[in-house]
Amino acid sequence: MVETCLTYAHPELEDGVFIDAVQSGQCTAANWSVLREQLLAPRPPSVFVRESCNGGSQVIQEAASNGCYTLAPTAGASFVDVPVGKTVTLHAAGDCTGDSVTVETDTNLCETSFGSGASANDKVRSFRVQDVEVLPSAHRYDCASGESTCVENYNNASRLAAINKKLTVKIVRMTLDGKTTPALTTIKNTIGNLSDYYAVASRNQLSLDVIASQNVAVTSTNCATAKTQARQKATSSSAFLTVYVLPGGVCSTSNAGSRSVNLKGTLFRDYAHEVGHVLGLAHGNVRDPSTGTVKSSGDSSTYMGIFASDNYNLPQLHWLGWTKKEEIVKINSAIASNGFTEITLRPVGSNADSTNPLPIGAVWEIPGTDQRLFIAVPKPRLTGTNQIEGGTVFAYRAPKCVGCTGMAMGTMQMARFGAKSINEHEASGIFIKPVGYTSSFVQVDGQSVEVFTSVTLRVRQ
Ligand SMILES: [Zn+2]
Repeated sequence: MVETCLTYAHPELEDGVFIDAVQSGQCTAANWSVLREQLLAPRPPSVFVRESCNGGSQVIQEAASNGCYTLAPTAGASFVDVPVGKTVTLHAAGDCTGDSVTVETDTNLCETSFGSGASANDKVRSFRVQDVEVLPSAHRYDCASGESTCVENYNNASRLAAINKKLTVKIVRMTLDGKTTPALTTIKNTIGNLSDYYAVASRNQLSLDVIASQNVAVTSTNCATAKTQARQKATSSSAFLTVYVLPGGVCSTSNAGSRSVNLKGTLFRDYAHEVGHVLGLAHGNVRDPSTGTVKSSGDSSTYMGIFASDNYNLPQLHWLGWTKKEEIVKINSAIASNGFTEITLRPVGSNADSTNPLPIGAVWEIPGTDQRLFIAVPKPRLTGTNQIEGGTVFAYRAPKCVGCTGMAMGTMQMARFGAKSINEHEASGIFIKPVGYTSSFVQVDGQSVEVFTSVTLRVRQ
């Protein structure tokens, strides 16, 4: 059904609201165009103020832009939805004055106090919406006008500042008579492993901190009903992310919302995939270069596909703000002046911070489009995870994504070939040919495994 609706053409629709529409059978040829209009309609990342201590309660005020907003004395605000990249300062007096508390995630005011220690519930009279403050970082850069090899990251700086920190997590463990749900310790273990992965891949910018957990009994074996019951029964928390863990056999897939994920087990890559959506990533798709056929979510070099993986792919790592300026090299000007360029890349691997001066990616800004092509070597060596050989070169088409929100950074694998390939490979109007590599062999379980340290590519138009 996802293929029928060509969701890869609209990565912002995948999972989240879209998967709900698909699962409820709305994704038919007859109503797809109407459905697509609805789902694509711009939704401003607004602040919503709600009337009771439940994230699903009635909205009493919406604030779509920065500024100071006043609430009626009788408004009785008890919950605030805060979009990623915004902060909201709640005040006990009008005109954004008096006792206050600043929040950066969806916040339950029943468990929130002003600076004085007084409860904020029903006591907010005004609130100010601002962008999250952006602090200087080697991973947050702008390209100066003369820097012809610099690849701009168009992800919103406040969003990057909001996700690249210690993110708080609440676990809601759903139980159902006759079904088995993973134990809390197992769930915490998987989230701990995910945090360890993020710490390395993000260069110690992002980690996860479980601050609360709750068991919630549901009574329905219907996937959508069980999820709704869990949302109604769970105490609304002020965590950045809420992880709902489903009883076995109730839902056929895991999925993600804007600040929450539903997981049907404790498979690590499932967690990395769904939390990836919350961070703003969409799916890693594959286009067959000979037939043009698209395989949705078929890219095994990213957790954002359906296959076992070791990392997100390079366009996604760049989008998340996890690469430095000098690690990604734009090649348009070199090709424009010489007709071709040669570039030596080191493998991305875990994306751990490195003192190796070689870049990890080359980028071709595809002329006349809002897309770019990332060329990278995802793995130094074959592992037990998947069949990607060390040194294999991938070319991914990705949107520049200026001002994107939601699950936006989807990719299309346009080419994939070995470091020892003797052919040229076309992708998005350029031709890529490996012309050299460095490698050595190590013994793993009695087998000799080749470990690549660099691959040199000749790229022409
Ligand atoms: Zn997904």
